[in-house]
Amino acid sequence: MRKVAITYGEMMKELDILCEECPFFMRSVIGKSLVGREIPLISVGQGKKAVLFVGTHHGMEWITTALLLDFLRDVGKEVGRGGDLSVVLENRTLCVVPMLNPDGVELQINGKDELNPLTERLHAMSGGDYSRWQANGRGVDLNHNYDAGFFEYKEYEREHGIVPGSTLYSGEHPESEPETSALCSFIRARGIDLLIALHTQGEEIYYDFGGVVPDGGRVIAKRLSALTGYTLSEPTGSAAYGGLKDWFIKEYGLPAFTLECGKGVNPLPIGDTDIIYKGLREALFSCLTVV
Ligand SMILES: [Zn+2]
Repeated sequence: MRKVAITYGEMMKELDILCEECPFFMRSVIGKSLVGREIPLISVGQGKKAVLFVGTHHGMEWITTALLLDFLRDVGKEVGRGGDLSVVLENRTLCVVPMLNPDGVELQINGKDELNPLTERLHAMSGGDYSRWQANGRGVDLNHNYDAGFFEYKEYEREHGIVPGSTLYSGEHPESEPETSALCSFIRARGIDLLIALHTQGEEIYYDFGGVVPDGGRVIAKRLSALTGYTLSEPTGSAAYGGLKDWFIKEYGLPAFTLECGKGVNPLPIGDTDIIYKGLREALFSCLTVV
């Protein structure tokens, strides 16, 4: 059972081990965070069709990185023993970005980030308390920084007095942040056929953008719901704009999902990883065969 919160350093250590054990994993970086941390990408498979999983948009949600590391470990085992998955990955590629927001995780877990040059400004935003920090290293909520209903969301921000800080602020313009810009550039260059973003918490699955569900999206959503027991939901309020899933659906008209993993209060305790992963495992694997 996992006992240690997944900092950026912990993740990098685990990736070193995983990639050593699984030489067929290709490790690269999609770009760097605001503070300069490399954002790793693990790929496996040779197919043109690609399924992308993204973890930890939000500082408090680092358990999703643990879930994706466990998933990668299982994928590695399956491929290593030459099972059915090896056949699947002959014409598909699995791409995993386990931690999109390393700077936010650093602040949330350690209560400071010595590498961040904006410490004073961040201190003014947070009062020095980062226990509820969701944003990146300059107070932008990455999952509101995508180009999907961005300008409508700006209205919402004004109405609700949302400013740079721990959560909800969408940034100056879409993809203004190095993390979102890196991810979108990767998606544009690679071409992705199915996208799953892991968040916490609530045991819910979001699958539309503004009421639009891409072809095939509803069937996959129902299957994910059946496999996990999670509820299918349509987002309301602030959650309805600017997310990765929203942008992907808007831009490509292809299925994308937000999985709100686990239940409880963020940050979910690292000890919950096993039970949450157990409930998700089959659904995550099922994503590799639906496109
Ligand atoms: Zn989230």
